[in-house]
Amino acid sequence: MLACVVGALAACSDPAPSPTPSPSLTPSPSVTSHPSPTPSPTETFDTFAHPLDDPTSIWVIVNKMFPISPTDWVPTDLVALTGIPEGSDQKMRAEAAAALTSLYQAAQAAGAGFKISTAYRSYSFQKALYDPRARDRGVAGADRTTARPGYSEHQSGLAVDIYTTTECRLSQCFGATPAGQYIAEHAWEFGFILRYPDGKEDVTGYVWEPWHLRYIGMELATEMHDSGVATLEEFFGLPAATDYAESP
Ligand SMILES: [Zn+2]
Repeated sequence: MLACVVGALAACSDPAPSPTPSPSLTPSPSVTSHPSPTPSPTETFDTFAHPLDDPTSIWVIVNKMFPISPTDWVPTDLVALTGIPEGSDQKMRAEAAAALTSLYQAAQAAGAGFKISTAYRSYSFQKALYDPRARDRGVAGADRTTARPGYSEHQSGLAVDIYTTTECRLSQCFGATPAGQYIAEHAWEFGFILRYPDGKEDVTGYVWEPWHLRYIGMELATEMHDSGVATLEEFFGLPAATDYAESP
């Protein structure tokens, strides 16, 4: 491959393959606004390995721009998080649950164990959460703290909120706890990212949530860690997801 330098490309016997978009990324009528990812700077990484608009994909994008589709989708492989404190009533997709259990065991061994707050949330659960807040505080007020039904990453079965103490549950002070620090440093080693990092509200549409983990698989988590790209939106060249496209 060293012979394949600028000026010698015509003589290259082994040209670098150009990424071929997977068929599932061809815009379908329901996702015409879902752009294709831009190729990663790392030539060996396949940014088309999993679709971004398929709810069964471990790379599915769910944010204020892109609701899960169909909006009432339910994962078929949910399992209870029985190996983690307070996890027996909470579920994730099987692959994510296994990875989270491994992350928990490593954190626990390092003196940074945690408990489960909530993991999978159904469309109807999110609706029951959102609608009263929208009635009480108005849409803008509700949107500030609660995802609209169909727009919560928790509905993918790949997201989980964890906590340690009640006072820092769903609070940014969780980030300073041993568990918060442990997952910030090591979650990628188990295929997770902190989906809403500090200082990225103008990209993700959410303030820093040091407790919200999203499973994306080892390959992508490693690539994002190594390349220093913190958000899925930036990694895949997607537009910022600060606002909903429509009224609820
Ligand atoms: Zn969350």
